[in-house]
Amino acid sequence: MKAYRASLLSFAPDSESGPCAALEEDGLLVVGPDAAGRQRVLASGPYQLLKARFQGVPTEHLPGRIIAPGFIDMHNHFAQTNVIGSPADGLLPWLEHYTFPEEQRFSSAQYSAEAARFFLDELLRNGVTTALTFGTCSTESVEALFCAAQQRCMRLISGLCLMDRHAPAGVLNRAAPDGSRNACEQSLLDSEALLQRWHGKDRLGYAITPRFAPSCSDQQLRGAGELAQRYPEVWIQSHVAENRDEIAWARQLFPSSRSYLATYADAGLLRRRAVYAHCLHFDDQDRALLRSSGAVAAVCPTSNLFLGSGFFDYGAADRAGLQYGLASDVGGGTSFSPFHTMLAAYYVARESQGKAGRSLSPQQLWWQHTAGAARALGLDGVVGNLQPGCEADFVVLNPQATPLLARRSAQAGNLDELLFSMIVLGDDRLIERTVISQAQEALFTIDGP
Ligand SMILES: [Zn+2]
Repeated sequence: MKAYRASLLSFAPDSESGPCAALEEDGLLVVGPDAAGRQRVLASGPYQLLKARFQGVPTEHLPGRIIAPGFIDMHNHFAQTNVIGSPADGLLPWLEHYTFPEEQRFSSAQYSAEAARFFLDELLRNGVTTALTFGTCSTESVEALFCAAQQRCMRLISGLCLMDRHAPAGVLNRAAPDGSRNACEQSLLDSEALLQRWHGKDRLGYAITPRFAPSCSDQQLRGAGELAQRYPEVWIQSHVAENRDEIAWARQLFPSSRSYLATYADAGLLRRRAVYAHCLHFDDQDRALLRSSGAVAAVCPTSNLFLGSGFFDYGAADRAGLQYGLASDVGGGTSFSPFHTMLAAYYVARESQGKAGRSLSPQQLWWQHTAGAARALGLDGVVGNLQPGCEADFVVLNPQATPLLARRSAQAGNLDELLFSMIVLGDDRLIERTVISQAQEALFTIDGP
């Protein structure tokens, strides 16, 4: 058992009530192993109230620091670290010129292992403790990512990218070496084998991962849907309605579906635990379809601004009752930092050319990247918050990290002003430490700069 004395940021655990953050100025966070030996939050609250109960527990005092839930990144690509910041005339040229050539390199297990280590350490360095991540079309890439996440005891969800057409041969799923199965059949068998090997192992989860409808044959998309039906507890991750050229292409390839999103519904790929990145160019029927299926949206604002894809419509999403959370979408996204993503989400919500602009509150922004994202992933009460029972994934924030942040945060008159100063001015320097729950005595920690 171990305790931390610092300010504590948490959210009301009643997920239906939406974002309601609280800051305990002088708090105590007590963590200890559960029956399986995994570190969980045993208590969190005012230091004065809890100190007698936990007398004798080794306590680390962190004056001036804020302990907050680890961030959750609902959509990113581990194989795109090297193409972050590559300019292009929109999504499809970006894929062709930068992303596909880089992803071809991940047929090498060694290349994949090195990239996985860097990617996960970069997430942790930025305070991200849970992620839903795309592998590439090579099984080597997925094995490497799960192995590296397992070593770090991270809660990571990933899967083999399904793509059997419309990309260079080196980046597509491969046929069986002996020619007995085509790429589609082999990719579905590989997905099931990886799923059985990794889903539920330690803190790892599997996601059935069709890249996007235009890159999948009808047979592959339907095969993925059948897999999703046979394994209802695994996740599904894909992309939808990011870019107008992409949408026109998807409509051309699947003309019998009502919309691009409906293509996934028709293949059996809309259900609880299905996470669709972007969801920008939707009509109300699409929103109603997503909502009624139990699927959720991963909002990727830095990526959408960088590639000029469009603006997520928060007002329409809320009216339809959609669930959503924030995501970096690295490498289309421009930063691993949750602070940059939250700030970009604020810009996206403010935009008022094609929709009503609104100001998302700092609590709402932070919630979308922690407790709200956990709820959208079906992991509320597990991660994304600090209430007793949650896995002990958290960050130690230092609001004094830079001169300007120290100056601005000192002026904060309430919690919203404090959170907003960190959202606007924060980056990896604000993350002093990232602590990961693990089934051992010592907690895995990454110290910041
Ligand atoms: Zn993406």
